[in-house]
This record gives sequence, C-alpha cells and structure tokens, in this order.
Amino acid sequence: MYKKTLRDYHVHSLHSIDSQSTISTICQKAIELEIKEIGFADHVDFDPNDSGYNFFDYNAYTLAINNVRSIYGNKVVIRKGIEVDYQYCFENKLKRWIQDKDFDFIIGSVHYINHEHIYQLTKRRSIETVIESYVNEVIYSIRSRLFDIIGHFALDYILYIGEKKREESNFIYQASDAFQEMIANNLYLEINTKYLRSVYKETLPSSWLIKLYAENGGHLFSVGSDAHLVEEVGTGIRDVLDFLASFNPIIY
Ligand SMILES: [Zn+2]
Ligand SMILES: [Zn+2]
Repeated sequence: MYKKTLRDYHVHSLHSIDSQSTISTICQKAIELEIKEIGFADHVDFDPNDSGYNFFDYNAYTLAINNVRSIYGNKVVIRKGIEVDYQYCFENKLKRWIQDKDFDFIIGSVHYINHEHIYQLTKRRSIETVIESYVNEVIYSIRSRLFDIIGHFALDYILYIGEKKREESNFIYQASDAFQEMIANNLYLEINTKYLRSVYKETLPSSWLIKLYAENGGHLFSVGSDAHLVEEVGTGIRDVLDFLASFNPIIY
C-alpha cells in the first residue's frame, strides 16, 4: 500500500555556495508545511572550475544537522544527504573523499561533462551529441555505485534548452538505456520540481520520461524541490506524489 508521506529530499542550505538559508529556518518551514521528512542535499563539487569547489565543510555541516535534530527531531525527520556533482574524470577523487564520511543518502547529479556545463554544451554541439554524452555520463554515475539517487535526469530539459523541436520519440532508446541501468542497480530516480518554478513548468524528468521509466520496470522514486530559498521548500511535492501513485512506487 502506497503511503504518501510528505517529504522533500533535495534541499540546499547555506552549506551550499548558492543558498543563504540556515538549516534551522528550513526545518521550521518544513514543520509549518507538515513535511514529515526533510533531506538536506548540499552541493559537493570536485571541479576546480566550479564556484562551489572546496566550499562544502563536512564537519560544520554535521554539527549543524546534529543541532537541528536535537531541536526539531521530534517534529520532522531530518536526513543528512549531499548532492554530488558527478563527472567521470573526478570519480576517484570522489571515492577517496567519501570513504570516511557518513551520509543518510547521496544524490549523484550530472551538471557538467568534461568540465563544461551542459547548458554551454548545447550552444556549440548538436542536441543529439549532448544527449548522448549526458546519458553516457549518467550511466557512468550509476556504475560508480557511489549513489542512492540519480538527481534531476534532464534528457528532455536538454531538448528544451537546445531550443529544438521536442521530438522526444527520437530519444526513447537513450532514456531507456539509462533507466535500465538505474533499475538493475536499484537506484532511485529523483523527480525534481525545480523547473516547475520556471517557464519550463515541468518536473525533471517530465511525465513522459517517468512513464517510460515505469514501463521499463522502475518503481523506485525520490522527490525533491531543489529549494535554494526557504519559500521553495516542498513546492510541487504533493502533486508529484499524487502523480506517482499509479506506478506502484517505493519512495526514498
Ligand atoms: Zn543539481
Ligand atoms: Zn540541487
């Protein structure tokens, strides 16, 4: 029986370079919204070109999480996660870094390929090439066995930013390749609501890809707002949980 526990497993605090929100205010907001589980997923970046490189402070983060657990732990379940920027070229570095750390969950997200942001890549390469590279990088991230959740699978968003007519049917095989790899490795597919708050107005991945994942036999999901502001916490989550109900889901 599918239990629709309200949860948000992708929230950024000031332990990420691109958020100013304290962990404490986010917990207060979650309680106000009756969210039962809040998953912090601050950025960890291994690319020296990334503005977030070396920003994440594991000890400070751990202290802050322990602190809010002692204050709000009886009102909301607080999970200590991270969102790792996965690039194949930094996989060994990541493995070494992660060894002596303790997290409740790890999201693996592809933002860059070979040091170049996907957005930039779409400006100078064909959309077919970018999608092929993206799917390959996601498959490498799955095979690394370092992650619990695959963050914001963005195949259709790449079509969108590439400003090409969205001929989704051309990319079914690539998407299925990635999904089959996730399913074989028991990884959770994140449904990220960040771009519901933009002109794109779709989840990452959007509904046709979620259906395709389910058709391939996938039923492990995670839901996250990717909030960088307190007021974004939990946005779109109820609708996503309703939408997932028909796929016999197990939610992280
Ligand atoms: Zn991300
Ligand atoms: Zn994020």
